[in-house]
Amino acid sequence: MPVKNNSDKKEYLKKYYHTHKVEAKAYREAHKAESKAYREASKEKAKAYYKEYYKKNPENKKRVFENTKKWYKENPGYKAEYYLKNKERASENNKRWNKENPEYRRIMESKRRARLAGAGGGGFSKIQWEEMKKEYNGICPYCNNKKDLTIEHIVPLINNGEHDADNISPACKSCNSSKGTKSMLFFMLARVNNLIEK
Ligand SMILES: [Zn+2]
Repeated sequence: MPVKNNSDKKEYLKKYYHTHKVEAKAYREAHKAESKAYREASKEKAKAYYKEYYKKNPENKKRVFENTKKWYKENPGYKAEYYLKNKERASENNKRWNKENPEYRRIMESKRRARLAGAGGGGFSKIQWEEMKKEYNGICPYCNNKKDLTIEHIVPLINNGEHDADNISPACKSCNSSKGTKSMLFFMLARVNNLIEK
């Protein structure tokens, strides 16, 4: 049949699928790897394109973000409905994202804790966090060991410490948990005097 335009083409394909279900399925099966590779490649291409585009037009990124936010606000049921429909996939995606972005996850988790504690402060960016760690050469300032660094609130949130770049220090997990809600001064003195084990 003569295919003149896109809507004709769509119509034609629809009819074709209905009358050639077996063939269409066989075709899909035979080209599975190929279409997957194609999808992956276009995804990468689109990602690179938008990255470059937003770099050149940062104000557009903000606009798109605002528009998306607005849309979700105007369509409140959508997110929940979508999530329910795609629960399993969303949870898989979440897990993968967390695994691939441990530092972001860490920052978001500390933000969540600060929010629950009702802490003030302007928060901090991933760049600020990366810079802080670099400043310490990846070494925990409390025990001088090179370890995986977690986010520590110098003045604890429970003592009205703010969730702010000025009140954040990298600390290894064990120092972070043994400092707990103690002030930095008390914690350091207690350590020096061997009241707290390293
Ligand atoms: Zn430490």
